[in-house]
Amino acid sequence: MADLLLRLANDRRSAGLIRKLGLPTPVRLARAEGAYDDAPLAGRVTLVGAAPGGLAVDALQKAAAEAGATCVAALAEGQSADTLLFDATACRAPADLAALHGFFAPKLRRLARNARVLVVSADPSELADPVAAATARGIEGFVRALGKEIGRRGATANLARLAPGAESQLAGLVRFCGGPRCTYVSGQVFRLTSAPAPAPAARQLAGKVAVVTGAARGIGAATAQRLSEEGARVVCVDVAAARDALYETAARVGGLPLVLDIAAPDAPAALSAFLREKTRGVDVLVHNAGITRDKTLANMKPDVWDAVIAVNFTAITAIDAELLANGLLHDSGRVVCLSSVSGVAGNFGQTNYATSKAALIGYVAAQAPRLAARGITINAVAPGFIETPMTARIPLMMREAGRRLNALSQGGQPRDVAELVTFFALPASAGVSGNTVRACGLALIGA
Ligand code: NAD
Repeated sequence: MADLLLRLANDRRSAGLIRKLGLPTPVRLARAEGAYDDAPLAGRVTLVGAAPGGLAVDALQKAAAEAGATCVAALAEGQSADTLLFDATACRAPADLAALHGFFAPKLRRLARNARVLVVSADPSELADPVAAATARGIEGFVRALGKEIGRRGATANLARLAPGAESQLAGLVRFCGGPRCTYVSGQVFRLTSAPAPAPAARQLAGKVAVVTGAARGIGAATAQRLSEEGARVVCVDVAAARDALYETAARVGGLPLVLDIAAPDAPAALSAFLREKTRGVDVLVHNAGITRDKTLANMKPDVWDAVIAVNFTAITAIDAELLANGLLHDSGRVVCLSSVSGVAGNFGQTNYATSKAALIGYVAAQAPRLAARGITINAVAPGFIETPMTARIPLMMREAGRRLNALSQGGQPRDVAELVTFFALPASAGVSGNTVRACGLALIGA
């Protein structure tokens, strides 16, 4: 569904009128094409700062330099900043937080369109002193508020919460959050823990097998595309009613189509049999298929409730149980579940959907420590308003509200969600597990 306001606000002939009417003026968002290359931050003017005593500043500097960023100590006359990286790991007391103001405030007027901010803090749960823990937690509020301020320029801000010894994990996150791929992810927290991980590189999924459910269209099709760009061979799964589109996606990404209703009782066994025969297992499992059947609870028939729970929740746990039990999910595997901001904040008419999507948030948190011994990570992505056939069905006024009520004043594209899924899927993201991260353009309402 085309976004007319985005077009009018970016057309010289109509931009003035849009401003006069007081309508939101979304900027055109930057997006990357194709796979990561060896220098994903090439040409980006990057400043790295730290509160005194920070433990992560060297890792940030190294990550930015290795990603090809143009690191400068200060902005030259007329230069603007594309990426700001700040190490706040040493902030332990309220007065330390002034370092955030000191670094960011003078630079914000010289922030480029579509700029990226990444702040690194200590993990409050690792700090015994309540004031130190509260100080670290405060940084999350700073990042969220900053994201809301800079969103008007298409810029995003995110937070890495670092467990002791996890500095090396910043390399992959800087490539994602410091560059154009982090288009619609803002105000989010990524918890990083120490784990052996390869250095990020181009086409890191070469030789890997991915499964994407609901791959015929929307976010699933974009995810199949992104994972294939990174080198994965993708098994594309969808229902019989979507057969034609499924075969098109599979052909486009050079993958394998599999017609399967994931909620059918024999679906886990059928998927297992397919993988055993065709690919000898899976490295990246993306549980993307999902349905909505909206009704207020008073008007919701039991079959509508059951259908949503079956596809969005039960099927996922059943498939995982089967693939884990028979060893088809490989060591160092990656599991990504598509949750929703409805699962974070709830939504009118979506008690069934919100229940299923909140369950996935709990599921990844509970599974992560259980899978860690095998090097498998599991995370959830919670999209906000994404322009897909699912949201095209929303009535006009509600659709407009969904689109605009975020810091970027526009809906995201399926590819924006696929970028976040791909970040979780990469071998370099070994220290990121149990997270739920929203791809919502920093929604203004809800959690
Ligand atoms: P979509 O409706 O455009 O596509 C979903 C795909 O899943 C379809 O191809 C459909 O045929 C397939 N599918 C449905 N039931 C299936 C089943 N039982 N077995 C196999 N395949 C099945 O949806 P989308 O907008 O691309 O959303 C993808 C995921 O992201 C869903 O889990 C959805 O709940 C979630 N999500 C989307 C948005 C959004 O704004 N679009 C927001 C939050 C969450």
